[in-house]
Amino acid sequence: MNRAEMLGRAIDRREPWDFVVIGGGAVGMGVAVDAASRGYDVLLLEQHDFGKGTSSRSTKLVHGGVRYLEQGAISLVMEALKERGLLRQNAPHLVSDLAFVVPNYEWWEAPFYGVGLKVYDLLAGRYGFGGSEVLSKEETLARLPTIKTEGLRGGVVYYDGQFDDARLLINLAATAVEQGALVLNYTPAVGFTRDTDGFIDGVEASDLESGREFRAAARVVVNASGPQSDLVRRLAHADAAPLIAPSQGIHLVFDGSFLAGPAAIMVPHTTDGRVMFAIPWHGHTVVGTTDTPISEVPLEPRPLEEEIEFVLETAGRYLRRPVTRSDVLSVFVGVRPLVRSGTGANTASLSRDHTIHIDPSGLITIAGGKWTTYRHMAEDCVDHAATLARLPEKPCVTRNLNVHGFHRQAQNFGNLAVYGADALLIQDLIRADPSLAAPLHPSLTYCGAEVVWAARVEMARTVEDVLARRTRALFLNARAAMAMAPETARLLAAELGRDDAWQRQQVEAFHAVASGYLVGTG
Ligand SMILES: Cc1cc2nc3c(=O)[nH]c(=O)nc-3n(C[C@H](O)[C@H](O)[C@H](O)COP(=O)(O)OP(=O)(O)OC[C@H]3O[C@@H](n4cnc5c(N)ncnc54)[C@H](O)[C@@H]3O)c2cc1C
Repeated sequence: MNRAEMLGRAIDRREPWDFVVIGGGAVGMGVAVDAASRGYDVLLLEQHDFGKGTSSRSTKLVHGGVRYLEQGAISLVMEALKERGLLRQNAPHLVSDLAFVVPNYEWWEAPFYGVGLKVYDLLAGRYGFGGSEVLSKEETLARLPTIKTEGLRGGVVYYDGQFDDARLLINLAATAVEQGALVLNYTPAVGFTRDTDGFIDGVEASDLESGREFRAAARVVVNASGPQSDLVRRLAHADAAPLIAPSQGIHLVFDGSFLAGPAAIMVPHTTDGRVMFAIPWHGHTVVGTTDTPISEVPLEPRPLEEEIEFVLETAGRYLRRPVTRSDVLSVFVGVRPLVRSGTGANTASLSRDHTIHIDPSGLITIAGGKWTTYRHMAEDCVDHAATLARLPEKPCVTRNLNVHGFHRQAQNFGNLAVYGADALLIQDLIRADPSLAAPLHPSLTYCGAEVVWAARVEMARTVEDVLARRTRALFLNARAAMAMAPETARLLAAELGRDDAWQRQQVEAFHAVASGYLVGTG
């Protein structure tokens, strides 16, 4: 993944691309992988870094969605469970099974959730991750040693998948490139070109690093800009009626001792009727989420005070030890690109299914769904887009396409496990320069070699790219990430040929972003 080389090819190209994809999140990258692996010519444009939007800010679950079962959305759950199985098959280095325990404090909960979760097992069919079971009080405490014991009757355990969202996205970008696509970060789509009939026949893009603008002619343009889909649609149709009802969700991150075991807690009904999870992730505990309708979609959404209080209070109801603001190591916020229906007053009840919308100009927008179903969404989108653009029909091959980094025993790579097969190459970097093995901060596992790797191979351009999405330092511990910024800037500058002033500017810019991930204790 060499940005300068890909940018040069994108600027020089005169003939139309089969596909130009706008948006480098799960959906856009999925479309790029799908279309390129069918043999179409593909260019993907991302306005910031890959995964800057919602796709690095999820709950990190590869799941069918137990909650949608209660809403009776059987086909949605079945489809997601199948995709969960395919994702574990195609990216075993990134998707692992996780036990979720629903603790029971009322007499009716064991039979109620026990039966519901058996249905969940059943719907997974041959893509199952393990059978659910009703647990005694002792068995529940063995799996969740830190939960409140007062009134505890037992629990129900079921299995779902867990992943590192931004890492999967970067691996999908590499997969897209291996399949022949060009993918560019820091290159927003800023307008469209049209043919004599008024149909969109290309995209105007801007390289934010050089300020240079260029045109990319296209047989079809796919808008996969997630919660910002309507902003992109309005570049083509100023009066386009909104398609998206954005809703934000926050997560609080604590140190790993808050769960102290390998199982996650699933709370099926919080006081506001939502689902909440506390999950072990990269040695920490992630608790979330909320569902708050919002009107604007900023690149760095901020948590509301009441959301922070709500998550703390819910965690405090289940965990024995007090949970306070000063325990929070990081707070991160994502915006759901939910598809509107009716008044959209209550976003929690809006469909999590995806939608493909075609504007009169031929612009295709794909939105909704969830991370787990990105592959299926991409397949559906490419089928529609190829028909619309009268491209020769080519079958989808992603059901059995390994994601870059594919490795069945990645856990053997220790701290580098999430890199899968690439871990061996990062180990080579360390062998060549042992100083790169030094951790960048005592409370996180990341080392200098990962910064060098991110810059050389994974198109990281800034300190934030490295600390937020190539590694997950910012999401795990915002203060530690801030402390890592100067050394990260130094290593990056050496790779990218930047000077001291650039390093200072990068550290300042990163601190400005990272301060939004801190929770005040006042
Ligand atoms: C709080 C929360 C928790 C979630 N948890 C889970 C979960 O555990 N499991 C699960 O399966 N799903 C989960 N989801 C859903 C999932 O994260 C999203 O459905 C998915 O990430 C959306 O991907 P996307 O590509 O549509 O959007 P995004 O990831 O937002 O990508 C859109 C991209 O388009 C770019 N863009 C915008 N405008 C332009 C432009 N003009 N030019 C170029 N690029 C542009 C943006 O910068 C952005 O990177 C969660 C969502 C939220 C909010």
